[in-house]
Amino acid sequence: MNKLLIVGTVAFDAIETPFGKTDKILGGAATYIGLSASHFNVKSAIVSVVGDDFPQEYLDLLTSRNIDISGLEVVQGGKTFFWSGLYHNDLNSRDTLDTQLNVLADFQPKVPQDFKDADVVMLGNLHPLVQSSVLDQMEKQPKLVVLDTMNFWMDCALPELLDVIKRVDVITINDEEARQLTGEYSLVKAAAKIHTMGPKYVVIKKGEHGALLFHQKEIFFAPALPLEEVFDPTGAGDTFAGGFSGFIAQSENVSFGNMKNAIIYGSNLASFCVEKFGTERMVTLEKAEVQQRLQQFKALTQFDIVLEK
Ligand code: AMP
Repeated sequence: MNKLLIVGTVAFDAIETPFGKTDKILGGAATYIGLSASHFNVKSAIVSVVGDDFPQEYLDLLTSRNIDISGLEVVQGGKTFFWSGLYHNDLNSRDTLDTQLNVLADFQPKVPQDFKDADVVMLGNLHPLVQSSVLDQMEKQPKLVVLDTMNFWMDCALPELLDVIKRVDVITINDEEARQLTGEYSLVKAAAKIHTMGPKYVVIKKGEHGALLFHQKEIFFAPALPLEEVFDPTGAGDTFAGGFSGFIAQSENVSFGNMKNAIIYGSNLASFCVEKFGTERMVTLEKAEVQQRLQQFKALTQFDIVLEK
């Protein structure tokens, strides 16, 4: 079975949307990526850190999804990373109210020996130095390295972020962050600038407006499924990244054509994530529901225009 190595935060989140409010619940980029990637036939592991305030029941949830957590360090006496966000009425934009790095502040990641030859490495949102350190520990060049990041790291660790961006094949980033990173308003120009920073493939996520995949002069667009109920977009980007990287790891095909399917899988899984608060929906999600919604994606985008000669 192919191996997927996942790096990212495992966190407590406090979220407020127009539909409600939660106190500290399970969150974190690696958590969402792992739950999403568990829908594929891959062997996955998370590299991250939590404090001893992190409940055993959350660790059990990850292992119940066949996620290897031997690289998830538990710091005795430490506090888990905490993030709090407030969504605006359109649910497409949010304000970060609080970010407490806690145990993440001096985290030294250790890649489990069994994953130093992982086929795909998904560098989820976390300090760029931690992302780089994971790449340094790989003993075999992965077939694909994917990176996700956030404006927080552009604000506080830009040189380190630019260093790790140089080393990856694919970057997934949202539209606002792509504009911040490049200073370009046009997403086509922003993607072109990001290509010159290193990644051959650039995925720009546009929330409820879908996602764009850029590779040299080629562009592909995947819509987001129009949903009746959207409660909480937290983790949608990470769930997308988990679907993207999980699908690529399973299919062993890193061509542009296959990446189109990967962004459809990512969008499909993300469409479930937003239906409930936090990880709640991803925890109950069944294979049959995933397949059924893929049909809806197909129907949404298929058309048969005959082009005039
Ligand atoms: P998304 O909605 O996909 O951007 O991801 C939200 C998740 O990212 C939440 O569960 C947070 O715990 C986590 N998160 C928020 N801020 C950061 C940060 N600066 N670095 C890493 N993870 C973060």
